Amino acid sequence: MAIDPKIQAAINQQINHEMTAAYNYLAMVVYFDQINLSGFAFWMRKQHEEELAHASKLFQYLSDRGGTVELQAIPKPSAQFDSVAHVFQAALAMEQANTASINSVYALAKEINDYATLSHLQWFLDEQVEEEKTMEETLGLIRFAADDKSALLTLNNQMANRPTEPDTTDA
Ligand code: MG
Repeated sequence: MAIDPKIQAAINQQINHEMTAAYNYLAMVVYFDQINLSGFAFWMRKQHEEELAHASKLFQYLSDRGGTVELQAIPKPSAQFDSVAHVFQAALAMEQANTASINSVYALAKEINDYATLSHLQWFLDEQVEEEKTMEETLGLIRFAADDKSALLTLNNQMANRPTEPDTTDA
């Protein structure tokens, strides 16, 4: 069944959100590189790659449905951070906004009984629970470390151990 133009537009918008998130995470890599927290920089680069994979997954889905992918401009990321906590606050806010965005695509698909899109978006809903949880937990640890530089360096070392998630590349 041909994809509804409204769903196509919403998915194209969501592709742009994922690319925007990817670009914002890349700006966070820049920040961590500048302050020599290479573990955090590595972790954020993985996050950047995950967002690219999300965009790619939606791209493939729209293409598989016979839809037209329309790539839109990616806004310049805000690169002004004044602390590690500030970066993760921004990351959490971005993930919360992205959850709301996916929810709205889901609501639209539900409204027009697009079951295939509902099924595809299920993965994204689960992923958002994970994303928000990770950002909240990391922010909690950073706040716990507070002004303790050695605790922050320990955390930096732990961040370097982030594995690549295989389930984001099977689109
Ligand atoms: Mg994403």
